[in-house]
Amino acid sequence: MYASIIIEYGNKAVDKTFTYIIPNEYRDKIKIGHRVLVPFNNKNIEGFVLEINDKYDGEYDLKEIDSIVDEEPILNDEMLYIGNEIQKEILCSKISIYQAMLPKALKAQHKTNIGIKRNRYMALNKDIIEINNYINSCKSKKQVEILSEIIKNDKVLVNSSNYTINSLLEKGLVKFIYEEINRYSVHSSGKYNLVKLNLEQEKVVNNVEFNKFNSYLLYGVTGSGKTEVYMELISRVISNNKTAIMLVPEISLTPQIVDRFVTRFGSDIAILHSGLSDYEKYDEYRKIMLGKVKIVVGARSAIFAPLKNIGIIVIDEEHTNTYKQDNNPRYHARDVAMLRGKYHNCPVVLGSATPSLESFARACKGVYKLLTLTKRAGVSKLPDVKIVDMKAEVRKGNFILSSVLVEKVEDRLKKNEQVILLLNRRGYSSMLTCRDCGMVIKCPNCDISLTYHKSSNTNRCHYCNYSVKNIAVCPQCGSKNMKDYGLGTEKLEEELNKIFNARVIRMDMDTTSKKGMHEKIINDFGEHKYDILLGTQMIAKGLDFPMVTLVGVINADSSLNVPDFRSAEVTFDLLSQVSGRAGRGNSPGEVIIQSYNPEHYSIVCAKKHDYYGFYKEEMKIRKMLGYPPYFYITVVNITSKDYNIGFSEANKIGNYLRKNLRGDTKILGPSMANVFKINNIYHYQCIIKYKYDNKLSEVLTKIDDIYKINNKVDVSIDVNPISI
Ligand code: ADP
Ligand code: ZN
Ligand code: ZN
Repeated sequence: MYASIIIEYGNKAVDKTFTYIIPNEYRDKIKIGHRVLVPFNNKNIEGFVLEINDKYDGEYDLKEIDSIVDEEPILNDEMLYIGNEIQKEILCSKISIYQAMLPKALKAQHKTNIGIKRNRYMALNKDIIEINNYINSCKSKKQVEILSEIIKNDKVLVNSSNYTINSLLEKGLVKFIYEEINRYSVHSSGKYNLVKLNLEQEKVVNNVEFNKFNSYLLYGVTGSGKTEVYMELISRVISNNKTAIMLVPEISLTPQIVDRFVTRFGSDIAILHSGLSDYEKYDEYRKIMLGKVKIVVGARSAIFAPLKNIGIIVIDEEHTNTYKQDNNPRYHARDVAMLRGKYHNCPVVLGSATPSLESFARACKGVYKLLTLTKRAGVSKLPDVKIVDMKAEVRKGNFILSSVLVEKVEDRLKKNEQVILLLNRRGYSSMLTCRDCGMVIKCPNCDISLTYHKSSNTNRCHYCNYSVKNIAVCPQCGSKNMKDYGLGTEKLEEELNKIFNARVIRMDMDTTSKKGMHEKIINDFGEHKYDILLGTQMIAKGLDFPMVTLVGVINADSSLNVPDFRSAEVTFDLLSQVSGRAGRGNSPGEVIIQSYNPEHYSIVCAKKHDYYGFYKEEMKIRKMLGYPPYFYITVVNITSKDYNIGFSEANKIGNYLRKNLRGDTKILGPSMANVFKINNIYHYQCIIKYKYDNKLSEVLTKIDDIYKINNKVDVSIDVNPISI
C-alpha cells in the first residue's frame, strides 16, 4: 500500500504530494489526515496523509513512511474539504492552509515539545477494608497520614516520590494514576443575569432558521444587544445538542466578553486567541477535538475549530479587517464560515454596528438576510456627538485639545465619571525634521519616517522595528535645530497629565506588549482605578464601561489621510465604534470628534449615527471609481531586494496580465506600493479589477507557478485585499 503525503517544503510552499510505501505494521492503522514522519532529503520531516492507494504506477524507487505521529488523524474530512475549497478561492498552497488550521503543536513541522500535560496522583490499590486493616497495624505515622488523606480525597497529587510513598507502592497498597490537565482556565465572575430579550431582539432570534444553511447580516447599533442575541441563538443550538462557533476580533476578545460567555455557558466553552501560550492553545484545541466542549469563542483562526455537528457560526464585528489574515494563506474567516455553514447545514450570522460595504451590499441584494436592531437595548441612548473644527482651534493656539474637550473632561472628572480618548498613533511624535535644511529623518531600511518614543528616547520605525538613540544633530547639515512634529499617544499622555489632575492610563502596542497587560489595563479601568483611558484603536471595540460618559477623538483625520480606497469606511467605522463606548450605563454619553475635515461625509455621518447615509454616499464613490463591492479586486504583489529586477519582473507580470485577461477586466500598474521600501525590500503591485473573469484563476496560478522557483523576486497574490 502507498500513501500520498503533503509536506511543507522550502520557504515557498510547493503543493506537491510525495508517494511513500506504507510499512506492513501501519497498514491497518494509517488513515487519511494522519500526521506522519517521512524521510525527505536525508532527514525525517512531518507531513499529512492525503491519499491511500493500493497501486503505484510511477517509476521512482519509493521510500517507506518512518512512523505515524499521533494516534488519531489531525485533519478530518471536513478540514480536507475546506482546505481544498479555500485553496481554489485564494490560490494559496494547500499545505499552508492546513497549517493555518492547526495550533502549533499539531502542525506538520520539525518536532515541537508541546504535548499533553498530566498530573500524577496516588490512589488506593486495595479495597478499603484491607487498607483500614493495614492502617490499624501500621507503625509508620507518615504512611497512615498519606493513606488517610487518600481515603478522604480519593487521590493525592504527587510531585516527587519519597521513601514513604515508595514503600506503600511496593506493598501494592497504592498506585499512581495520571490525569490530563488543562493549562488554560478562565474563571467566571459570578452568576449570570439572564436578561429578557426585548421585542426587537426576540424578532431577530426568531427570524434565524436553524438546521439550514443561510447567511444573515445582523445590523445593530452599538449597545443594541447583539451579544445577547448571539448568546440566545447559541443556547438554542446547544440545547439541540449541536455546537457553535463565535468569532470576535482579537482585540475585543477581552475578559469582559469571555466572562459573559463563561458565566452563561460554564465549562462548555473553549477559548482560542493569540494571548494564549502554545501549550494553552493545544489544551483548548484538544478539548474541541475530543468533543468535550460545545462552544468555541475565538479570534480568526478559531473558524477552523474542529467542532462536529455545528449548529451556528457567529462572526461579531464582521467588518473588522483582522478577520482576513494578512500573510499567507490570505484567507478571510467570513469565507471559511460560509463554507462550513454549507457543510453543516447551519446558519451563519454576521453582526456589526457598521457592516462592511460588501456585506451590506449583499444584504441589500438579498444574498444575506438582513436583521436589524435599531436602538440600544438597556436604558441607555446613543450618545450625542459634536464635531470640533481643529483649524479654528489651532488659530486659538489649541494644537492638541480643543477648549470644549478640555471643558468636558474637567466636568466628568468633577462628577467622578470616566473618559476615553482615542488617538490612532503610538509613540511621542510622528516625524523629526531639521529646521535648517528641511531633512526628514527616515528609516534607513524603509520608505517611512521614524517615530520618536520618549519613554525609551529612541526614534523607531513602525514597519521594521529599526531603532536609533534620539537624533539631536541633523545627519545632513549638522544643525542642532531639530524639531518633532505630529502627535502620538505618549505626548498626549504627557499633555493630559499636565492639564488635568487625573489618573491617566495609556493603552497601545507599547504598553500592552507584555502578556496580560491588555487585560490588566482593562480591569483596572473597569474598577475605576483610572479616570482617563487613552489609546489607539485598541480601545475602540467591544469595551463596555458604564462609567464612561465622555469619548474624545483627538484626530479623526489620521485614518482618513491613508491613501486607500477604504479609508473613509475605516474612519466611519472607527468613529462609530469608539462613540459606542460612551454612555452605556445610566448616565447619557457624549462624544467630541476633533477634525481638520469636519465636513467629510464619514465624519458627518458618524456624528448622526447614520450608517445608511454613509453607505449610500460611499457606494456612489466606489461605483464611480470602480472599487468593491462593484468590482472585485485582486492584487499581485511583487517584491525584490533589487530595485531593477523588481521593476522589470513587475512589468513582465503586468504585460502578461494585460495580454491574457480581457473583457471588463482592468489591469492597473505595475506601480510602487504605498510604502515602497520596507526592510530594504522594494514593493511593486499590479491591481486587477474585474466583475467576473473565468480565466483569472488560471492566469494567476500560472504566474504563481513561474515565480515559485525564482529566488530574486517574490510574487504573492492577494484576492480581495483589505487595503491596496
Ligand atoms: P452589543 O453587542 O450590540 O454592543 P450588548 O449585547 O453588549 O450589545 O448589550 C449592551 C448592554 O445592554 C449590555 O450591558 C447588556 O447586558 C444590555 N442588554 C442587552 N439586551 C438587553 C435587554 N433585553 N434588556 C436589558 N438589557 C439588555
Ligand atoms: Zn539639516
Ligand atoms: Zn524601517
